[in-house]
Amino acid sequence: MRILVTGGSGFLGSHLCEALLSQGHEVICLDNFFTGSKSNIRPLLTHDHFELIRHDIINPIDVECDRIYNLACPASPVHYQFNPVRTIQANVLGMTHMLELAKRTKARILQASTSEVYGDPTVHPQKEDYWGNVNPIGPRSCYDEGKRVAETLMKDYNRQFNVEIRIARIFNTYGPRMALNDGRVVSNFILQALRGEAITIYGKGTQTRSFCYVSDMIEGLIRLMESDTLEGPVNLGNPNELTVSTLANQIVALCDSKSPIQYDPLPQDDPVMRRPDIGLAKTQLDWEPKVELTTGLKKTMAYFQERVKKISG
Ligand code: UDP
Repeated sequence: MRILVTGGSGFLGSHLCEALLSQGHEVICLDNFFTGSKSNIRPLLTHDHFELIRHDIINPIDVECDRIYNLACPASPVHYQFNPVRTIQANVLGMTHMLELAKRTKARILQASTSEVYGDPTVHPQKEDYWGNVNPIGPRSCYDEGKRVAETLMKDYNRQFNVEIRIARIFNTYGPRMALNDGRVVSNFILQALRGEAITIYGKGTQTRSFCYVSDMIEGLIRLMESDTLEGPVNLGNPNELTVSTLANQIVALCDSKSPIQYDPLPQDDPVMRRPDIGLAKTQLDWEPKVELTTGLKKTMAYFQERVKKISG
C-alpha cells in the first residue's frame, strides 16, 4: 500500500514510517518540522519506498494514498502551548484537510487522538465511553479541545460521507527520538539525571501517569489501522500506573545519578491521575504492551546519552 504519515518526522511518526517500510509498504512522510526532526528520518531518506514532503496540514494537500495516519500535531504541553492558535488549526483545519483527502482517495484514515480528551478525569481508570472532564478555556484547551473536535470531525465524515476511520487515544508514550526540548516528564528527568541537574518535580509528585514504550504503541496503531472490526475510539497505552515521584526515583537510580529533587509549581489543569483501561484493545486487537518500564527507560536513556554526547562533544 501507499501510506501517508503526517507528522512522520516526529517521535512516533518516524518509528511508524520505519515499521511500515519494513512491512514492504510505500511511505509518504509529511512534516512541517515544527517539532519533527530530520535526524529522526535521515536513515530512511535513501530507502526506495520512502518520500518526504515538507508541508503543514493547515493547508490542503493532494496525494494518492491508500492509508493516512494523521499524527501531525505538537504533542507535549510545552510545544502545543507555544503557539496555541496554530495547535487548534492543526486539529481543526488539518483534520478537515486530511479527511477531505481520505474522502477523495477513499483511503482509510487513522487519527492519533489522545488521553487528553479525558482532561482531568473523574473516572479511573479511563474507559472509552467516559466523556471526560475538560476545561474549555485553559492553557491545555488548545490541544484537548482541538483533539476532541478532531474526533468529532472523524465521526461526522464517517456518518456523512462514509469515510473509513480509525481513532486511537494515545496515552503517555516514551522512547528513543523524543525531542530533547519537549519538556515532557520522561525526557526532562532523564536529561536532568544524566547531567546531574536537579530533577524538577511539578507539584508534590503525587500525580500519576502510565507510560507506554514506543514499539508497543506503534504495534497498536498498525493493528488498529488494519482491524476489520474496530473503528474506535480505542485506548492505546500501558496500564502500569505510577506517581511522578516514583518515576523520578527510578530514573535517578537507573542513571546512577546524584541529582537532587527540586519541587516546582504544578502547571494549571495538570491531570491528577491517568491510566488507560485497555480492555477494548485487548479483546478486539489482541494487543497489549509488552515492554517493561525499566527495559524501556534503559533504551531511552541510552539514546539520550548519545544525543547529549553529540551536543556537548
Ligand atoms: N512533570 C514534572 N516535571 C517535569 C515535567 C513534567 O513533574 O519536568 C509532570 C507534569 O506536571 C505531569 C506529568 O509529569 O503531571 C507528565 O507530564 P508530561 O508533560 O510528560 O505529559 P502530560 O501527561 O502532562 O501531557
